[in-house]
Amino acid sequence: MKKILSIILLTLMTGCSLFFSGKDAYERQVALSEELLVADEHNHHVEDHPLGDIEITSEDFEWLVYELSGEKYSGRGIGQEGGVNSSKQMLEWFEYFHLTESWLEEFEVLLGTKSVESELKYDSKSFEKEIDFSPINYTADGNVEGKAWFLGYGIAENESDWNDWVDAEGNKINLEGGIAIMALGLPDVEEDHPLNLRENRRLGMLRYKTQVAKEHGASAALFIYLGSDNPGGLIDIGGTIRWGASSLPIGLVTSEVYTEIFDDAADWDKPIKSKKSPSENTLSFSTKVELDYVTAFNVIGYLDSGKDKTFVVGGHKDHMGTNSSGEVYWGADDNASGTAGVLELANYYSHMPAEERPGNFYFMLFDAEEMGLLGSRYFTNNNPEIMEKLDFMLNLDMVGRYSDNEKILMGGINSSEIFESDEFWSELTALNENLNFEKSTFGDGRSDHAPFIDKGVPAMFIFTGIHDDYHTPADTPDKVDYEGLEEIGKFSISLLDLIASTMESKTPHSEKVAPYTGEEEGDEVMPADGWRSWFGSMPDYADSGDSGYLIGGISKESPAEKAGLQAKDRIIKINTTEIKNLEDFMYALNKYKPGETIKVKFIRENQEYEVNLTLESRQDR
Ligand SMILES: [Zn+2]
Repeated sequence: MKKILSIILLTLMTGCSLFFSGKDAYERQVALSEELLVADEHNHHVEDHPLGDIEITSEDFEWLVYELSGEKYSGRGIGQEGGVNSSKQMLEWFEYFHLTESWLEEFEVLLGTKSVESELKYDSKSFEKEIDFSPINYTADGNVEGKAWFLGYGIAENESDWNDWVDAEGNKINLEGGIAIMALGLPDVEEDHPLNLRENRRLGMLRYKTQVAKEHGASAALFIYLGSDNPGGLIDIGGTIRWGASSLPIGLVTSEVYTEIFDDAADWDKPIKSKKSPSENTLSFSTKVELDYVTAFNVIGYLDSGKDKTFVVGGHKDHMGTNSSGEVYWGADDNASGTAGVLELANYYSHMPAEERPGNFYFMLFDAEEMGLLGSRYFTNNNPEIMEKLDFMLNLDMVGRYSDNEKILMGGINSSEIFESDEFWSELTALNENLNFEKSTFGDGRSDHAPFIDKGVPAMFIFTGIHDDYHTPADTPDKVDYEGLEEIGKFSISLLDLIASTMESKTPHSEKVAPYTGEEEGDEVMPADGWRSWFGSMPDYADSGDSGYLIGGISKESPAEKAGLQAKDRIIKINTTEIKNLEDFMYALNKYKPGETIKVKFIRENQEYEVNLTLESRQDR
């Protein structure tokens, strides 16, 4: 088999100098592709193979990055043709490298809301969707009928001397299944008013107001937008059901709907006060959400070397794809560069005699990283027998701009004791004298190495820094530094050699692992206000049900870890508050201060458990 392979490689190599040297060559190659249908034993075609030789070269990188971030895959978006086809192509490349095994790992991803059927009716008058009202895309399903109440800004803060939820006698208003109508945002108050404090940012948030309304007996919540661009009108409120559905049916209504219901034209410029009585007639509001699920694909290859150590070389293959107005986010640096690195290393090691390799290798190209590390989380949660074997994971994410800063940033450095020794770093320096690299904690929780660290696998993250083109359509292949990529490819090889020679197999990972720096507990759902407590979990964004808050990952040394919580635990109660989803969880958490101990009830493998958890301060973490 090896022999046949080298003959094929020879055939390819004669072509490579002609056809595989960069963009121009790529264009020529496309033109000539008809003439180049040279099949190997797997019946693949030469034009599918960028890797004419097994050396790490800037030409290979250039070919790959142009290929991956070109028209063919249009930004490798989840659920888009380019995303699916690029996965298939990568699998073909893995197969072409004759890895021991390679496969696609499929998983479902919730993209968002496809559509919401919705009706709003007051007494006998039906309102028109998208003219008088619009459901919010992360609304709960529901069919609600009840009296409407207007609650001003929906703020219930006695400490701030502003409570829209008390009646004229100062008693708490209970809507008893009615529908709350509230103004969005915060009132325009004097600078020294307590509501002006930064700590109160959450009070202006739609999700927070919804929770306050629910707490006061509302069965649905409608909002009036008062922004100066379109006061009293409809706007696109943003947000996504991927961060969890709302706990109630929610929507926007125009000020005309308000007038119709309350027979009153409010003065929307003044700080708005709540009405102390419900509408005369019944308001009915219904919502029916259709969710948009797509299939995503991790591309996995295994190269057995008969060694006792096993490494992962990985990176995310997806990018943001093509948006609704047709703009393509090419993602050349993010992360065609790292994908090319994984492919180039897979090619390199697969053609090296097994005994010379530093270990067995898994090559992993993750999907849906841009949506919150979904692919790598899926892999690490669903392949325990592989996870068990791993000694080290190397993550390449955005490695294409070395020339920008002349610096390689290395994250994950707290994930193993061996990275703490000066000797390790001086040896790495000696092996790479021409390169500049430094330890960094930037992005520690924000890329695909993090789920591995979570599971106790030491991991490193290599990247060349953020730039102005990051997550814009201007991240194009012409701006990528291909000489730098070649250097980073070689640097990775020296790093893996060094780790293989330094690391005892199954070196116990350091207990001192850097905590997550972002995306914990859905910061998107509610902001981290001043005193907000640290719990230390990440949501499983693939979960959209209302049967509890499903944990996707736990931060090291966090209150959640100390309390013994794990990924896949489903939290159903905090103290006496029932938790149906992420929004409920965030709201419940917001009530407790650092240092307070809460009871957390959760389900693990169909069994209910309860633990005490002492919240810590976000600042101290
Ligand atoms: Zn990105």
